This record gives sequence, C-alpha cells and structure tokens, in this order.
Amino acid sequence: MNIHEYQGKEILRQFGVAVPRGKVAFTVDEAVEVARELGSPVVVVKAQIHAGGRGKAGGVKIARNLDEVRKHASELLGKVLVTHQTGPEGKEVKRLLIEEGCDIRKEYYIGIVVDRASGRVVVMGSEEGGTEIEEVAARSPEKIIRETVDPAVGLLPFQARRLAYAINIPKELVNKAADFLMGLYRVFVEKDCSLAEINPLVVTGSGDVIALDAKLNFDDNALFRHPEILELRDLDEEDEKEIQASKFGLSYIALDGNIGCMVNGAGLAMATMDIIKHYGGEPANFLDVGGGASKEKVTEAFKIILADPNVKGIFVNIFGGIMRCDVIAEGVVAAAREIGLDRPLVVRLEGTNVELGKKILNESGLKIVAADSMADGAQKIVSLVQ
Ligand code: ADP
Ligand code: MG
Repeated sequence: MNIHEYQGKEILRQFGVAVPRGKVAFTVDEAVEVARELGSPVVVVKAQIHAGGRGKAGGVKIARNLDEVRKHASELLGKVLVTHQTGPEGKEVKRLLIEEGCDIRKEYYIGIVVDRASGRVVVMGSEEGGTEIEEVAARSPEKIIRETVDPAVGLLPFQARRLAYAINIPKELVNKAADFLMGLYRVFVEKDCSLAEINPLVVTGSGDVIALDAKLNFDDNALFRHPEILELRDLDEEDEKEIQASKFGLSYIALDGNIGCMVNGAGLAMATMDIIKHYGGEPANFLDVGGGASKEKVTEAFKIILADPNVKGIFVNIFGGIMRCDVIAEGVVAAAREIGLDRPLVVRLEGTNVELGKKILNESGLKIVAADSMADGAQKIVSLVQ
C-alpha cells in the first residue's frame, strides 16, 4: 500500500525523523491558511499524488507571499498532473502539502528496501540526490552505497555513520545524518514498510539534515496489524478494478493489453501471461482467483475483467486442483448472464470436475471457444482479438 508524502512525513515526525514544518490542504483557502500559520518567508506548494516526478512536471511550486500561495494552490488543485510515473493519463491533484521553504545546500538520496537476493534489509544512499535512482544506477553505479542490515541486531550506528561518510555528507553533520538513518530504519521495521525512500534528503544552509520528500510503501500482508496505516489509504489513487478485486480477496493487477485472463494460481497466471505474449498478444490483467474460490468470487472476477473497456477477449485457463472446474464454469456463466458477454471467450479447463464444468459451459448458450491446451487456447484468443 502507498500513502501520500504528507502522511509519510507525519509518520517520520512521530519517530523523531527531521522533516520540514507543513500541513495538508484540500482547498485553496485551507492552503492560504496553512501558509499563514507557518509564517515562513518562503512556502512550497506541493501536489499530493501517489507518484514521483512532480517537481519536473510542475507539481512543486515556490511561493514568496500569500497571494502566490493562493495562485499556485488554485492552479494545482483539480489539475491533472502527468509525470513520468503516472502514465500518460496523469493523476488529478486533490490535496496539497503546504510546507516551509527550505534553504537547500545539497540534495542526497536515501532508500531502504528489502533485498530479495540476500533476504535482508538494505539501506542505500547516494550523493546524487534529486535525480531518479534508476538513472544513477545506470550511469554511475559506484555512486550508490549500500549497507546490509543483520536482522538480529538491526542497523548499527557505525553502519549509519559509514554510509553518511561514503555519500559525502559534510563531516560536522555526519552524526545528524546517522541519527536520521537510524530513525528512518526504525520506521521501516516498526511500520512494516516494503520501501522507504527519501529523495531528496537535504543538508540545509543552517546545518540541518532533513527529508524534503518521503515515499513510504507498506507490505500489504502486514496491514492487518497496522490499522493506523490502513486509515491513510486514499482510494482515489488506486485503480477502481483493483479496489473491487481486493474486496473479494482476488489477486488482480490491471495491465495495458487487451486479453483478459482468468486463471487460478499465481504461477499459472504468470505462465498464461507469458504464453499470450509468446503468441503475439498482450494480457490486460493478472488475475489469480485463488484456491477455494466460490461461485460469487469467480462471478466478481469475471465482472471485473469485463469492466475493462480495453478487454477485447477473455482467456479462462483453469487447472482444477483445489479449485473445481464446475465452480469456475458456474461463475463464468452467472457473470456473463448478468452483464452480457459481448466479447470472444476461450476456455481451457483441466482437472477436478472438468466434464461437469464443460457441460455447464456447453449448456449455457454462451458462445465459447474450447481449447485443448494452454498453447492452443493462447493462440485462439490472440487470433480472435486481432
Ligand atoms: P518529486 O520527487 O515528486 O519531484 P520532491 O518532493 O522530491 O517531488 O520535490 C522536487 C524538488 O523540489 C526537490 O528535489 C527540491 O529541490 C524541491 N523542493 C521540494 N520541497 C521543497 C521545500 N520544502 N523547500 C524547498 N525546495 C523543495
Ligand atoms: Mg522526490
């Protein structure tokens, strides 16, 4: 799960990690009011969307007085911001962070992630702050410094200092930077983050080390023990179909292609997407209906697929082990009846109750193309949508 910058900064503040003073605003008047309360000579008006690259896209504006705050706030609120992370459709700005302007001496990069290769938390830093870390990694990988954390003891102060030195934080500020890293690491662990990225971390003219940006992602599997994080969820920022899917416990991810996929098991779902691509098609989604899915769940899954206007055809690829083929068939038929199936449907069923499943589909009156194998099904749906 993702949250907004201002929410991330609020969490950092609770853990004693330095951030600029600031507050969220939902309207232009609120923005001006927050700026007045801050009372700083320079105020920054920042669009709050779940995407980075706002600076370059005009989503971060400097204001030197309240009139400028009003002007920037009214321009940004309601604007569709297109950054390199939003996709071409962009994201509408509905919230602003109004914060005090910072006298930046230098920008750095800090990121904490779980490194899957070592199975450990890694703290990364770079003196090339402000730019995308992927760019730094491609251009000058030696400028990314890593500290791997031993889970038994956590991030040690000497590691934090070593990282701060290595990214050339001014000597007299290394201890402040190390405190910052220790605090950020505590946030990462205690809040079950999957990512904590501070880009930029800045050293200020007055010798402070503070987070100017904050991106926190949380492990969905741990949200059950963080009701306070779940409260921060902003459904406006999420794909509507994915929200619907999560209500029904379906693993669904919308993609850009035009072939809707209904599959059971994450491995088979991945393999199905691969084979569609192999035959020249593009999957419209990843969808794993899971093991013991009910007819209602399958119906919902099918409706979610059909709700995507990009979907030109559907490939149902089920291996009935725990999941029974007849349940899948009933779900498909129920959903198709409810909303009307107007697009080609290729079905490949195998496994438990496969004969009954096929019978249900055959007697449904739906126009279904049967497939004998995965390859056969993929080829058929690819040619049908072309
Ligand atoms: P994004 O990563 O989405 O572009 P950031 O929050 O990193 O957004 O802001 C982009 C740039 O704007 C920063 O690199 C920094 O130079 C500047 N900036 C952001 N917040 C402030 C602030 N409070 N004071 C001064 N400059 C800021
Ligand atoms: Mg940033």
